[in-house]
Amino acid sequence: MSVLSQPQFHDEAAAFAFVEAELWPNGPICHHCGGFERISAITPNPEKRIRIGLKYCGQCRKQFTVRMGTVFEESKLPMTKWLQAIYLMVSSKKGVSAHQLHRTLEITYKSAWFLAHRIREAMRTGELAPFGGEGGAVEVDETYLGNNPDNEPKEGKARRSGNKNCLVTMIDRDTGRARSIVIDRMDAATIGTILEDNISMEARLMTDEHPLYGMLGYAFADHGQVTHSRGEYVSKQDRTVHTQTVEGFYSVFKRGMKGVYQHCAKKHLHRYAAEFDFRYSYRIALGVDDTARATRALQGVVGRRLTYRPVDERPHA
Ligand SMILES: [Zn+2]
Repeated sequence: MSVLSQPQFHDEAAAFAFVEAELWPNGPICHHCGGFERISAITPNPEKRIRIGLKYCGQCRKQFTVRMGTVFEESKLPMTKWLQAIYLMVSSKKGVSAHQLHRTLEITYKSAWFLAHRIREAMRTGELAPFGGEGGAVEVDETYLGNNPDNEPKEGKARRSGNKNCLVTMIDRDTGRARSIVIDRMDAATIGTILEDNISMEARLMTDEHPLYGMLGYAFADHGQVTHSRGEYVSKQDRTVHTQTVEGFYSVFKRGMKGVYQHCAKKHLHRYAAEFDFRYSYRIALGVDDTARATRALQGVVGRRLTYRPVDERPHA
């Protein structure tokens, strides 16, 4: 039996129940008044146009569903399709194109595109805690993406930012998390701000020989640099000095961007980057399986609404 044969992926009522359990772990909450004491379920009836998942609030006498106030409300797509799309996107290492979602889910290309970007948006973790807080190593590197992601300057050649999109990625070696930021230009002010905002002063910074990192590395407890132009990838003096982790991240990212997302507009690049950060940060090697990753993305999709009610106020059934 495949994972996608689970009921929430093909039965709309089961999909609603699945999302409700995630969003309302302690029972339904009225979208209109926030009440939870007198909620009753309305039995769906297609003839009378009573939708699946409809609830009635005895307090404000209005009806609502778990879709309200979430991104699900903006689309007429069934919940089953949303859950399938989330699962496909979180479980494929290099991502899924809108074209593939369109074919696999049998929805229009436009819907698939909307869905994919919404899910990507949900994958933006919004975590702001600086990396390397315990004095651990944080690798930083940058990559250029143009129409052709392979269009990066060759080793030893001067780097040009030109019209290309530049992505800076930081990876905390201790937690295994990745955080990527799209920038317009690679200059001291831009990179300095990013490092300052995202990396703890206690961290050991790990970079290549780019002179900007040389200028900015003093702000951290330690700064290890490898000289790629001289063929040095791991320091001989200290084997912990390298940027192999972030380079591995970029190799997956570039293969994904080249193979799956061929024409990525600059304005969407931060979302694609968030998607790769998300899958990397919640990967199987860190004990997060596809289902757990999908659940995490689902919580992001519904907008992290603050509608959780206290457990001890749960009415006695
Ligand atoms: Zn109400």
